[in-house]
Amino acid sequence: MILFICYSRKMTKGAANQLFIILVFLSLFSALSDLAMEITSNMAPLTETEVFLCKISTYSYLAIRNSNNAVLLLFLLALTRTTFLLRKRWAKIAFWLPYACVLAMLAQNPFTQTVFTVTAENGYARGPLILVLYAIALIYGLGGLAYCIYCRRYLPLGKWGALLSLYILSHVAVVIQFFYPEMLVEMYFTAVAEMQIMLTIMRPEERMDTEAGVLSWTSYQTDLKNIILSGEHVKIVVIRMQNSPGIRHHLGDYAYSKYISEIANGIRSIPWTYPNRVELYYERPDTLYLVIDADEKGTGDIKELLLSGTRESTRSYKERGIRFEPYICVINCPEDLKSADDIIKLGHIFLKFNDESKSVLFAEDIVSSKTFAIEAHIEEILDRAIRNDYLEMYYQPIYDVHSGTFRSAEALARIIDPEYGLISPAIFIPAAEQHGYMVPLGDLVLDHVFSFVSNNDMDALGIDFIEVNLSVAQCVVSGLADRIFKLKEKYGVDPGRINMEITELNFENINDIIMENINKLIEMGFNFAMDDYGIGYSNIQRISNIPFKIIKIDKSMLDEVFTDSGKKIMEYTIRMLQSIGKCLVTEGAETLDEVDILKKMDCDYIQGFYFSKPLPSAEFISFIEENKNKKA
Ligand code: C2E
Ligand code: MG
Ligand code: MG
Repeated sequence: MILFICYSRKMTKGAANQLFIILVFLSLFSALSDLAMEITSNMAPLTETEVFLCKISTYSYLAIRNSNNAVLLLFLLALTRTTFLLRKRWAKIAFWLPYACVLAMLAQNPFTQTVFTVTAENGYARGPLILVLYAIALIYGLGGLAYCIYCRRYLPLGKWGALLSLYILSHVAVVIQFFYPEMLVEMYFTAVAEMQIMLTIMRPEERMDTEAGVLSWTSYQTDLKNIILSGEHVKIVVIRMQNSPGIRHHLGDYAYSKYISEIANGIRSIPWTYPNRVELYYERPDTLYLVIDADEKGTGDIKELLLSGTRESTRSYKERGIRFEPYICVINCPEDLKSADDIIKLGHIFLKFNDESKSVLFAEDIVSSKTFAIEAHIEEILDRAIRNDYLEMYYQPIYDVHSGTFRSAEALARIIDPEYGLISPAIFIPAAEQHGYMVPLGDLVLDHVFSFVSNNDMDALGIDFIEVNLSVAQCVVSGLADRIFKLKEKYGVDPGRINMEITELNFENINDIIMENINKLIEMGFNFAMDDYGIGYSNIQRISNIPFKIIKIDKSMLDEVFTDSGKKIMEYTIRMLQSIGKCLVTEGAETLDEVDILKKMDCDYIQGFYFSKPLPSAEFISFIEENKNKKA
């Protein structure tokens, strides 16, 4: 039954699965030979054929039964991913030596009859050496038991319990059968214990991404933890598919899983030096993790290896214009990184370090950089920044084309971390959104900005309003408007002085709560701006419907302004948006030429390094005071 389940669940790949199947086969054969031996022996006096049959079954029982214990131990090693302990030759020899003794004893038995005898009158009888055989079984058994107890840290409690019960049950059974040889309980107990392992440990639905037929992301996490715990040396190759959203869109979800499984098949088919130490995991939607032996040869150009390995299995896709083009990062573990969390993190963010000139990124080049340290510890950094207020607001002046002076500014957050120094919002804002810190962080930003507006004489500075960025993560939580109302009361700020920016990209998932928050704030007198216009897909109808006064044109559009079409696009965008009553800010002006052309196009406001970078509040105030009466 167990074998049937193994095959019907396709549990035939992977070292642990294969060893388990071998184990079940061995148990089956020892059970059969045990029975055969017992039946023939009980029929004494025996005919010559029966003596022969009884001998054969006894030999095979003793040989197989003893290997069973060794294989069980191998299975345990595979399950805990610690097979590497047997890599050294002496370890292998030590491991197999007791079993070699068993075989040697059996081989000499026909001449000496010291292990057992089978005679026509009495059938089977034990010889003195049978005790040595039991002792050897005990060595493997106790060794396995001890290792099993030691492995507690590699396995969840339930699974560990199942393994332990296998050991305990089978040893109790051996003892019973030793004293009452006619009670064939040993194999029965073993079968029960194996069934239990099948039900609790060998659960492919837990280990596999069944659609893609590759080990799952959860398995990667658990195995990685064990790799680190055991100190095993491996190479982890992170394989991220380029253009995966496009391919998925083109193929549809179901066929996309099939495509992933074809890639996985291709990678498995590469002639690896240590093929049984190759594991492949899949993190949806677009990343495969290949774990191979640290000494694996031929990984010099791993990209070439992967491409050639998958050429055959992805041929039919290539004909349809779908190419397997991976970004690759190689992590030597534990040399490059010593914690499972950091390895997982690097797998997620290595593209940020992508360098067009290299086909493969190596963790060693990345992990020493400050950016990686920050990315890897960003949650910790955010947490302490919020708790201890390590936030500092910088203000970037915004130039008003009509008056020729600076009449507003954008508040841009920085974290000044005691350990990592100044951290850019380009890093911590997306992380805050991803890890659920955006609401408290956003509240802190607003608190700083309101306090800034109330503590400085905006009229005297000639500043009409301050722009502050709102993340959609803040707007989707009802209560934003109420909290802002409280801030306004606390600092006595005129809402007309504050302009909230929401980026265009987020307009796709605008919902009722967001609109409710925005409308309440507009009723209170706050204004809104759409940030980063030009990188999303807003249509003109949507823009004319949203109650936002200001549209901020993204730098990417300005970057094209000196091309023929780019110039026209900018010109018409400005004119079109102004004609429906919007006020325009262009971001990212770095040169005088850019400023001039924007002035000519009659853009209302300009923001950019040409005028000033974002400045800490005190420097910003002095900048404004210095420039108040000069026309820039
Ligand atoms: P953004 O709101 O589009 O802000 C403009 C970004 O462009 C700022 O980057 C600014 O320093 C940069 N910039 C301005 N002029 C130039 C220029 O001439 N050349 C170039 N290359 N860049 C220019 P920063 O401060 O790094 O902020 C990045 C983004 O982080 C912001 O983009 C905004 O989306 C987000 N962010 C910053 N502070 C906050 C915040 O307090 N709350 C939220 N939700 N998001 C924030
Ligand atoms: Mg902005
Ligand atoms: Mg922007």
